Amino acid sequence: MSVELKSVSKIYRNVRALDDVNITINKGEFFVILGPSGSGKTTLLRAIAGLEKVDSGTILLDGKDITRLPPHRREVAMVFQNYALYPHKTVLENLLMPVEGEMRREEATKLAKEMASMLGIGDLMSRYPSELSGGQQQRVALARALVKRPKVFLMDEPLSNLDAIQRVSARKLIRDVQRENQITTLYVTHDQVEAMALADRVAIMNHGKVIQMGTPEEIYSHVDNEFVATFFGNPPMSLIDGKLLDLKGKIGVRPEDVELGEGDMKGKVSDVEFWGDRYLVYISIDGDELRAFYPYRLRIGEEVKFKFKKYAGPWS
Ligand code: ADP
Ligand code: MG
Repeated sequence: MSVELKSVSKIYRNVRALDDVNITINKGEFFVILGPSGSGKTTLLRAIAGLEKVDSGTILLDGKDITRLPPHRREVAMVFQNYALYPHKTVLENLLMPVEGEMRREEATKLAKEMASMLGIGDLMSRYPSELSGGQQQRVALARALVKRPKVFLMDEPLSNLDAIQRVSARKLIRDVQRENQITTLYVTHDQVEAMALADRVAIMNHGKVIQMGTPEEIYSHVDNEFVATFFGNPPMSLIDGKLLDLKGKIGVRPEDVELGEGDMKGKVSDVEFWGDRYLVYISIDGDELRAFYPYRLRIGEEVKFKFKKYAGPWS
């Protein structure tokens, strides 16, 4: 099922939580909304789920206007940041909740078991949420959303309560489940590494507006503006004064596009981080800070030459 947002705006008192948002998500697509805290991501998902009324604009599912439809008639399922499992119900009972009264219990149980085994929690059906790890709870929440067989899956930072290692395996799991079931998915995150890893396409949001949209590869190689420069990539671009290259305004440089030890620009090493297969070197130049990858550890305070393979901008 496709999802279309046309000129959608939402204002809370004096905050423009959504400001003329236009996005089309294709059937079966894994679409990521990436933005800092407060950029309007949750409001966007809640508007699609029908939990929030929009002030203007239209929301379409497969071309059908659902802007005024109540939540239970939208065929979408939402997974929240805090999993919100019912503490006094077992895993199985939690999985059956969303389809209670809509399906014969036998049929619902069969479906719940299917989803649970797909997510690797099949042997936990009689446990209570307090007897599960964070990762297991998160899978129960996913399975619960899937039991409804939604046409559209909305996920609001579903991995934020997991530790770094669990996050990597959980995001792979989400991607596998999504692919297997071909569910159109909107996934919200503030984590650009997650966005790059998961997305077919990404929309980057700030202050309720979509700032740039495209495949992760497109955004990575064609950064449109300063905000995206500082938000996309791991680590993101360094923003430095263009005067180094006789340009007006700021330029953005990826750490992998800095060639250290060559060229006629100079700076001083101010810090070094070990990244496993390489080092991330911080170089101070005239009050700006430039990050660069380098295969060897450099001494702090050391002077280094550098040049750029490429850069983005300038932006004034
Ligand atoms: P995000 O999920 O990207 O962190 P939100 O969609 O939650 O952002 O919020 C977007 C903006 O709208 C923020 O400035 C937030 O403070 C404001 N906001 C969200 N919900 C409400 C509300 N119920 N009442 C007033 N302001 C709200
Ligand atoms: Mg949010």
